[in-house]
Amino acid sequence: MNYYEKKVKQGDTVPEEKVRKRKGIVHINHEFCKRCGICVNFCPVKNLEIQHQMLMELERCIACKTCQRYCPDFAIEIEELDAKAVITG
Ligand code: SF4
Ligand code: SF4
Repeated sequence: MNYYEKKVKQGDTVPEEKVRKRKGIVHINHEFCKRCGICVNFCPVKNLEIQHQMLMELERCIACKTCQRYCPDFAIEIEELDAKAVITG
């Protein structure tokens, strides 16, 4: 676990430019999502945004699963990526 991952674990927000690796893919069920913004506010790396009335991910997920835990509508599922298959973002 690196310095920034530790910070996230402690509940701190990490600067965007420090997030280099994508560790998860956010699967959004757009039928269930009511665009309440809870996940957007909780994501420590600002990976989620509501654009044009739709929840989008910005490909810098660190797979902390906070969004999945807090979504009241079970609209998010995080797929963890294999460390070898990490995509920079
Ligand atoms: S918390 Fe759930 S319902 Fe709310 S915007 Fe995020 S995915 Fe959609
Ligand atoms: S799992 Fe959710 S809260 Fe955590 S980094 Fe990915 S999008 Fe953000």
